[in-house]
This record gives sequence, structure tokens and C-alpha cells, in this order.
Amino acid sequence: MSFVHGLSCEYSQYMVKIELPKLLHAPNIPLVCDSPHSGTHYPADFNYAVDLADLRKCEDTHVEKLWEGVPAVGGTLVHATFPRSYIDTNRTEHDIDVTMLAIDWPGRAEPSPRCIQLGNGLVFSKTTTLQNIYQRQLSVDEVQHRINSCWRPYREALTQALAAASQQHNKRWHLNLHSMPSNAYERLGLPKGKVLADVVLGDLHGAACSPEVTDVVAEAFKRHGYTVSVNDPYAGMDLIRQHGNPSRGHNSLQIELNRALYLNEQTREPLLRFSQIQNDLSQILATLATYIRQQL
Ligand SMILES: [Zn+2]
Repeated sequence: MSFVHGLSCEYSQYMVKIELPKLLHAPNIPLVCDSPHSGTHYPADFNYAVDLADLRKCEDTHVEKLWEGVPAVGGTLVHATFPRSYIDTNRTEHDIDVTMLAIDWPGRAEPSPRCIQLGNGLVFSKTTTLQNIYQRQLSVDEVQHRINSCWRPYREALTQALAAASQQHNKRWHLNLHSMPSNAYERLGLPKGKVLADVVLGDLHGAACSPEVTDVVAEAFKRHGYTVSVNDPYAGMDLIRQHGNPSRGHNSLQIELNRALYLNEQTREPLLRFSQIQNDLSQILATLATYIRQQL
């Protein structure tokens, strides 16, 4: 557990879980996977004013369980236990909608278009069905508390896991794991009639991951019968922007799974085929692990 010792926040290990490699007979590989949006522990101080069932539609529910095979191939799995609607670790620290606050924000505020148009910045103001999450203004203290108790420990845990992974070979592979609503095109206001793929890989159009690695993952999914699109409709957000740098051997790829594959999107209960999807993902991870070993 050496690389988690540096975490500054005492209860960070409660808000962020780190599952280390579990290989008995082979060396670990420089693979780190992270699931920032699958947390379901709603903190007592959230104080939201919206139906919980609606709020839960923001979650990438069960993603960390779908990918539980990561440690078995020699990789590390980092995942958040807090919900992304409380604070979203895949946004910059400055992606703040100041109109949500009771008084001026003391730091930089640079809200993204998604924050302004959809209410989905660092702290969500709206659910994904555009309901207001609060009937009050937030205090600066509570937003700072969310940053310090959740956002920062998650960022630190992932950064340290990636640094530890690349120590030996100076190369690393990072899968940033998500799931997407089956009506993603509609929600993004994109033209109707397009069919959403089972899997959307996002590499920031090559800026976060080499085309070869994106291709290895895409082909592995296709061999298991999944339809795959690249950067359509999601190219990736802040975590792969921060960590991906293919020219240095740092490959970060975002993977979005269509929730209709594994989840009842109303009840958040897994579908019967959940374990089949888990098995497929474990085999895809094994294919990637073989590829990674060939690159070392
Ligand atoms: Zn997500």
C-alpha cells in the first residue's frame, strides 16, 4: 500500500477506495483504472432538495463492480464512494457556477459550457433531467469542504497510483471508467435517429491516448460482440486531460458503457446479464494486460 500513505486527508480512504493488484504468479503491470462516478454513499451534509431517484440518474452505478477484474490482471483500481452529484472529480477545481453560492467565491471560477448550460460543473446544480438539486444557496465553506474531503483525496489517490505504476518502466496505461445513459444523444441535444454504441471510447482525439492503444481496446470489445464508437459523443473530460500524454508513454483512455447493457436505468438494479458483462470485461482486461506486457 506504499503509494497511498501520502494521502493527506485522514478519512480519504473512506471516500476513495483503492484495490491493489492481486497477482500471485506474475509481476504487476503499469495499468491503473479509475471509476470517479460510481459512488453511492450520499453524505449527510449533502442537503439536496430533489427526488433521490432522480439524483441517482447522475451516477455511473455499479461501474466499479463491472470492472472488479482489474486487480486480477495485475492492475490497480481506484474508485470514489461519494456520488458525483455531490462533487465531480472529473471536473477542474475551478469549474464553479458562482450563482449557486451565497457569497462570492474566494478563488478562481471558470465555469465550463457544461456547467453553465447543463448545471453539471464541479458541484452539480441540476440533475441530468434538469431538475434543480437545491432550493437554497450553498455556502463557500460547504463547497470547500467537498473539495477538501472528496475531490482532492480522489485526485491525489489517482495521481499517486499512476506515478507508482509508471515508476519502473516510465510507461503507463490508464482506463477512466464510466457509464452513459442510453439516451445520451438526446440528453446532449444532438440530432435524433443516431444509434448510441454499446461502448464509447474517448481519447480527446488522440491527445490523451495513442491511436494504437485505443485500437487495441476497441478491437477487444468488438471481438466480444460490442459496438464501439470513438469520441462520439464523448471525447473525454478532465481526468484523462490531466493524466494522458501519449508522447511520454502515458496513455489515458475514457471508456463509457451504455447503461442499457447492464442496468435498469429506473431502479438502478443490475440486469440478469450483469455477470456476463463482468466476464467479458475481465477478458478484455486480460487482452490489454497481454498487450501491455509486450510493450515493457
Ligand atoms: Zn461518468
